[in-house]
Amino acid sequence: MTTSYDVIVIGAGISGMYQLHRLRELGLRVRVFEAGEGVGGTWYWNRYPGARFDSESWTYGYSFSEDILREWEWTEHFAPQPETLRYCNFVADKLDLRRDIEFKSRIRAARYDEALNQWEVEIEGGKRARARFLITAIGPLSAPTMPTIPGVGMFRGEAYHTATWPHEPVTFAGKRVGIIGTGATAVQAITEIAKTVGRLTVFQRTPNWCAPLHNRRITPEEQASIKARYAEIFATCRDSFGCFIHQADPRHALEVTPEVREAFYEKLYAEPGFGIWMGNFRDVLINAEANATITEFMRRKIRSRVKDPALAEKLIPRNHGFGTRRVPLESGYYEVFNQPNVRLVDLRETPIERITPAGIKTSAEEHELDMIIYATGFDAITGAFDRIEIRGRGGRRLKDKWAEGPRTYLGLQSEGFPNLFTLVGPHNAATFCNIPRCIEQNVDWVTALLRDMRERGLTCVEPTAEAEREWTEHVLDTGRRMLFTQVDSWMMGINSNVAGKDKRTFMVYAGGAPKYRERCEQVTAAGYVGFVLR
Ligand code: NAP
Repeated sequence: MTTSYDVIVIGAGISGMYQLHRLRELGLRVRVFEAGEGVGGTWYWNRYPGARFDSESWTYGYSFSEDILREWEWTEHFAPQPETLRYCNFVADKLDLRRDIEFKSRIRAARYDEALNQWEVEIEGGKRARARFLITAIGPLSAPTMPTIPGVGMFRGEAYHTATWPHEPVTFAGKRVGIIGTGATAVQAITEIAKTVGRLTVFQRTPNWCAPLHNRRITPEEQASIKARYAEIFATCRDSFGCFIHQADPRHALEVTPEVREAFYEKLYAEPGFGIWMGNFRDVLINAEANATITEFMRRKIRSRVKDPALAEKLIPRNHGFGTRRVPLESGYYEVFNQPNVRLVDLRETPIERITPAGIKTSAEEHELDMIIYATGFDAITGAFDRIEIRGRGGRRLKDKWAEGPRTYLGLQSEGFPNLFTLVGPHNAATFCNIPRCIEQNVDWVTALLRDMRERGLTCVEPTAEAEREWTEHVLDTGRRMLFTQVDSWMMGINSNVAGKDKRTFMVYAGGAPKYRERCEQVTAAGYVGFVLR
């Protein structure tokens, strides 16, 4: 039997949980299908050692509920993953969300039935469900990718991908551990694992510019102050480019003296969080010459922290400037390489040839290991969509439509896929954001649209091809100004382990959250201009 709902939501992470809550308030019959056994999405899956926020905890939690803000207490300025998962469960309990969530239910396919104006989803195992509206809350970084290295799967020891980390404790003491990758995930994992490991070998293909996190516990006085200032904190986030607490400095890097510049960079380096990325001079992510000044500063920092000069040079990125890829925040990452039991293997010099039953074989030698950790990232942003067979009008596949890069209107809908909403989808400001801040905006906007449609007796919404073309052009134009669009990274749709993901594609909206929000509000005020409603 196929059960029918008003709305089906895919995913019970931060977006899916909030969307469920809002739609229930409208009195709609909602069903959430979630692949995991619990809520939390990214915080449910990414249990690797060292996983924690890079956003200040008190800017990350939901802002919509006074009760939740009052009752929940973050213990650290940058909460570790177990605490965040507890928070997600606390919210699920508080809002009684679980009764409308089906866990262990991974959606295999979703098909739009034109005659009935309904979406039918198929859950792995064969079960089906239908709804007028389908909302994806599948996250931008939820489709993990294993490296396409020959022999993966042959290894006899323990092997884990960071994004599907076991729920049982994993120990490192006395073990020879190898980790592949040096992105934000690996930087956190390496630093934590190095504390107890027997021997650690880091297999690095591309180093990143890492900046200090400066995490610490929240004191009782700070807790009281945070709680008293929540409205102000969220207002600050709302006005900033990526909804972080850090605002870009109004000055240009090149208009101040070298002394002033150096002092400012030192100040940012000593401060917690993303200030050095998001609160830097306003031109460092746009102007190559300005960027070179912060890049040079960061280069000197690496050299000052790594004792072996030759090793320091290997840890310095050569192919991109500071901030043009996601900046990993670290808590002693560079010092790990001063430990006698930690070794860096530079894969640019000695590439991996294959995984063997005993370890990892590079062009220079075979590294015998007890454990291999794949911190090799995700098929970002469109990957989770590609893994579901989504078919719209005329049986057209979303994967085919987006083969040359996503095309959307507001990053929330795609022409030919009526009544499908893509929270935090490609071309949405939420992909470049302190994500719950943008999630709340996305969800509130979709909820208001569904409410308005119901009030007007409308049952179908879809963008026009013209609106989609115009938005997609705007996304590309906005992105071209930014230095990050000239660099390979997941933000540009590059993944060396996925066929076809070798061309730079604009995946994120780089106009900033305030501009995006304003545009969504204008669209609503103009009677949902760009959408066909019937
Ligand atoms: P990532 O940034 O894509 O890094 C993947 C790493 O694996 C890269 O160093 C990559 O090297 C390497 N790699 C992939 N395939 C390889 C291969 N075949 N051989 C050798 N090396 C290979 O992924 P991530 O570190 O999981 O981070 C993804 C995003 O998740 C972050 O940018 C961030 O947005 C988010 N994240 C957030 C937090 C947080 O908020 N606290 C923490 C962790 C992650 P190349 O660079 O050469 O491709």
